Amino acid sequence: MAKFERRMYKAVCSDCGKETEVPFQPQEGRPVYCRDCYSKRKGTQ
Ligand SMILES: [Zn+2]
Repeated sequence: MAKFERRMYKAVCSDCGKETEVPFQPQEGRPVYCRDCYSKRKGTQ
């Protein structure tokens, strides 16, 4: 493994329903958030 490529996975935001890309593989049953919603949640919690 000489090279590490940053892989982005397509996902649909669980909050606003927008299509987004995440650096990890989305798992069924786990919510995925777009950048907007993610930072929104991070800020409020
Ligand atoms: Zn969102």
